[in-house]
Amino acid sequence: MQEDKRIEQISAQIVRLANADFSKEGVISEKEDDLDSIVVGLNVLSEELESYVHAIKDSEEKLQNALTSLTEAQRLSHIGSWEWNITANTINWTDELYRIYGRESENFEANFENFIACIHPDDREYVNGVIQKAYRDKTAFSFAHRIVKPNGEESFLDCKGNVYVNEEGVLSRMTGTAQDVTDLKRAEQKISQLAAIVEYSSDAIISKTTEGYVTSWNKQAEILFGYSEKEMLGKHITLIFPKERLDEEDEIMAKIKEGQSLLNYETERRRKDGTIISISATISPVKDPSGKIIGVSKIARDITEKKIAEEKLRAYTTALEHKHKETEQFAYIASHDLQEPLRTITNYIGLFSKEYKGKLGEKGDMYTGFIENASKRMQVLITDLLEYTRIESDKAHNDIDCNALIGEILKDMHVIIEETDAKIEVEDLPVVKGQYSRMKSLFQNLINNAIKFRKPDVLPLIHISVKDQGKEWLFEIKDNGIGIEETYYDKIFKIFQRLHSRKEYQGTGIGLAHCKKIVDLRGGQIWVESEYGKGSSFYFTIPKNIIL
Ligand code: ADP
Repeated sequence: MQEDKRIEQISAQIVRLANADFSKEGVISEKEDDLDSIVVGLNVLSEELESYVHAIKDSEEKLQNALTSLTEAQRLSHIGSWEWNITANTINWTDELYRIYGRESENFEANFENFIACIHPDDREYVNGVIQKAYRDKTAFSFAHRIVKPNGEESFLDCKGNVYVNEEGVLSRMTGTAQDVTDLKRAEQKISQLAAIVEYSSDAIISKTTEGYVTSWNKQAEILFGYSEKEMLGKHITLIFPKERLDEEDEIMAKIKEGQSLLNYETERRRKDGTIISISATISPVKDPSGKIIGVSKIARDITEKKIAEEKLRAYTTALEHKHKETEQFAYIASHDLQEPLRTITNYIGLFSKEYKGKLGEKGDMYTGFIENASKRMQVLITDLLEYTRIESDKAHNDIDCNALIGEILKDMHVIIEETDAKIEVEDLPVVKGQYSRMKSLFQNLINNAIKFRKPDVLPLIHISVKDQGKEWLFEIKDNGIGIEETYYDKIFKIFQRLHSRKEYQGTGIGLAHCKKIVDLRGGQIWVESEYGKGSSFYFTIPKNIIL
């Protein structure tokens, strides 16, 4: 091969090497001269270069992989990072940092001023101070602050930073990370709010393990049971159980383990000073996110006072019922026994007046008349009283067709109805369960009053209607009579209470008390609504089912 050709080949080999082209080796001639040594040297160089290039490519690939992993890790952990090259005055933000700040790299220039502008106005001075200090002191730093995103949303960031000083001791670089801890912060805030609610609740709030060991004990629990939080934490809950109620813990836990809650469970517990208190507790299982029961919560309130009051009320009601029965019995016996002498008086005064009328002078006749009237009135009074005391609650109930019942009443009352020209309108009435004579007496009294308390110059108009209220019937007996002033709405249902003198309207003041007793015994209510001078409506309810 000619020398020129060989030199050309060597040059071409050098160019290939410069272009990192290791595809061809230089050819050695048979001469083994200097040119051949150059070719051998170039071939060795080529081999070495090739392995270097491979190593570099390998490292590049690894670096790229590491960068990808870092970006992914940042995305997953919501940690972004930045690098501030102070010498070159450039700041680099990672993709995640842009995401955290709610910005896009295309239209947001990451510089110090823009960074400060993103910070919550209340935190700006503080953040600026931290960075200035790190710059001045050349020390690492960490701080937390809020940012405001372009959409107005606030986020909490937890930041850390590092400083790098060059060989001349000059600060050349700062790097740092920012983690979005908004969810964590919000959860912390919620937890502290809940903790405050628990702490200042007016109920004792306790938690325990499923084995019954106390894990939390709030202020009210300290007050209610007399044990401090320190004394109770880690202790078994049965410490506050009276001896005879120790079995309750197993019963409660059996329910809790089935996932049930106990609502308003009334029981007794023992305070530290030994006193027994009545409590009402709501006990529920505490579950972990997988639904496994990991503890028990208990909200308890002192109901000792309520229990005492209930007991007192029960005793009072029993005593009252007893007294009431005694009084009724007395009234019954008295009125029953009074009937006999009264009958004698009435009979004899009748005979006396027949025998001596006109013989005793005008005054004598007048006095005899007074005695006759008074004894007749007394007879009516005693009959009404007897009737009233005879009502008992345990009589059998039947189906009563109220339409037929009213028909019968109106027949019985035909004389007074005709005399007064009263108009009585009756809507279609239901069949109710009740005691016939009592229901009759109830309607009779109300219709009778509606006619009796009519206005002197107005014809009585009475309207009887009913409303279905689901569980009960609501009856109304409406009249256009004299009306009742509101102050007397309750008074008129009490026995012997009348608003008028006998001269104005006849009566004993027992009728409405009688009605009230009948309705009460039937489990209903009776009341009046009226426009004084215009008329009254008497309402009463009759439950569809018998409540005795
Ligand atoms: P009495 O009818 O024997 O007086 P009640 O117990 O039936 O006794 O009624 C008590 C009082 O209620 C009556 O005296 C009367 O003043 C008033 N009252 C009852 N019904 C009516 C009515 N429909 N309109 C106006 N007042 C009435």
